[in-house]
Parts: sequence; structure tokens; C-alpha cells
Amino acid sequence: MRPGRLQGKTVLITAAAQGMGRACALACAAEGARVIATDIDAPHLASLVQECSSIQTELLDVRDGAAVQALAARTSALDVLFNCAGIVVNGSAVDCTEADWDRSFDINVKSMFRMCQAFLPGMLLHAKASHGSVCIINMASMASSIKGFANRCAYGATKAAVIGLTKSIAADFVKQGLRCNALCPGTVDTPSLRGRIASAADPVQAEKDFVARQPIGRLATVDDITPLVIYLASDESQFVTGQALLVDGGVTI
Ligand code: NAD
Repeated sequence: MRPGRLQGKTVLITAAAQGMGRACALACAAEGARVIATDIDAPHLASLVQECSSIQTELLDVRDGAAVQALAARTSALDVLFNCAGIVVNGSAVDCTEADWDRSFDINVKSMFRMCQAFLPGMLLHAKASHGSVCIINMASMASSIKGFANRCAYGATKAAVIGLTKSIAADFVKQGLRCNALCPGTVDTPSLRGRIASAADPVQAEKDFVARQPIGRLATVDDITPLVIYLASDESQFVTGQALLVDGGVTI
């Protein structure tokens, strides 16, 4: 049996109970990583452990700075931090509320700053001691940050900010063995996307519209996304940092 591509690495993932975070937790474990899957959703974290018993889970709300610090204090140094948590709120610059704007920035951007601030010092010491490469992967998006879409003012602003945060971390720590990249998926079939479709005035048309905007002609599945996360988490990508990598079904051709 070949050794896993993440053998010996410790990977922590936020928002890992469902969707892309969950799929990546399973994929990282399958590649030999020790995985710490965090989320606010206890039942789905429990079902993740049922699916893969080697995965360790932690309840973590990424909005809770004290809880983030406490988790960092009791966790051995990470090789990979995957900041996946994020939400979508609707609205243009005219009708997005200030509360929705603030909530979006708190969960989508400030949470990543909190996680990085808490975990980076340990990761840098680990990189120095092991003369190895440690890395951060931040979940951005193709939608509304790389390419504009209607009705996604706050979402687009947050995901563009994630790319800026990613490049700044990459620049600050490139000499210390820490890489930082952002992932920009197109429209991925996950529970949150299903929720957006179900809450549309015409769900059937909403799904057709989501599919139609991707020239490849279908939604992405989580399995379209996990290979890039494995690549970015592994040493195969050790010459790659500060990038915003698109997996978007041809939207940005
Ligand atoms: P999902 O809805 O399937 O799962 C989201 C998970 O986030 C849930 O398990 C939920 O409990 C958790 N969560 C919500 N608030 C949290 C908090 N405060 N702290 C910790 N966990 C929390 O998610 P998804 O569609 O796979 O999206 C994951 C990420 O990918 C998000 O950042 C999203 O913006 C981004 N993204 C999604 C798509 C898409 O089309 N689905 C496309 C591009 C980017």
C-alpha cells in the first residue's frame, strides 16, 4: 500500500461537519493525516466520526475568539490549517443590511484572522523545528470576488477580503516555511447550496440558473474540490504560495 500523501501531518478544518469541510476531512484522513474536524453542529460531527473513527472532533464556533484561543492552547502544532467556515447572505449594496454585512465579515473573514492569529505561532515554531513546510488554506470563492454576481454584495466583499488576507499571510511568512493559499470554487452541491435553492421563489428555476452559470454544464460536487485541497495541504505544492486557485467549471474562461 502506498503511503498517504498527508502521512504524518496534523490538519485542522473549520466547518467540517457538512459540505466541503466534511468531504475534505474524510479525504485528508484517507491520505493518512491526523484530522481535527471542528464545527458548531454536534450531531453532524458525531456522524463524521461514525464514518471515520480516526477523525477527532471539536465543537468550535469560529466567531468565539476565546474558544479559538483555548483550542489552539490545547492542540499540538498543526501542519495544515484549513479555514473553511463561511456563510452566504443575499443583497445588493442598497438592500444588504448593516447587520448582515457585519455578520458576513465576522464569520467569513474575521474568523480566519482569529484562527490564524491563534494557530500561526505554533505552526511557525513547528516549521522551524522540522525544517518543513506548514500551510494555511483559506476558503474564498469564485462567486462575486473573482467574477461579479448579482445580489451578493457582502459575500463578494468578504471573499475578496479572504484573498487579500491570504496574500498578506503568504508574504509575511514565506521565509519561515509557511505557505498560504486560497481556494475559489464555483457552485458546489452542498447542504448550504441546497438551502439557497429551496428558499428561492422558484426552486426548480433557481437550480437551473445555478447550473447554467457554469459552462461545464453541471454543479461541482465536493469530490471536484477535495483533490485540490489534498494537493495544497501536501508537500507536492511546496512551491505554491499566495495564490487564489479556481475550480469553477469554466465560469471565468
Ligand atoms: P455547508 O453549508 O455545506 O456547511 C457549512 C458548515 O459550516 C456547517 O457544517 C455549519 O454548521 C458550519 N458553520 C456555520 N457557521 C459556523 C460557525 N460560526 N463556526 C463554525 N462552523 C460553522 O458549506 P459549504 O457550501 O461546503 O461551504 C463551505 C465554505 O465554502 C464556505 O466558506 C462557503 O462560503 C464556501 N463556498 C461554497 C460554495 C458553494 O457553492 N457551496 C462555493 C464557493 C465557496
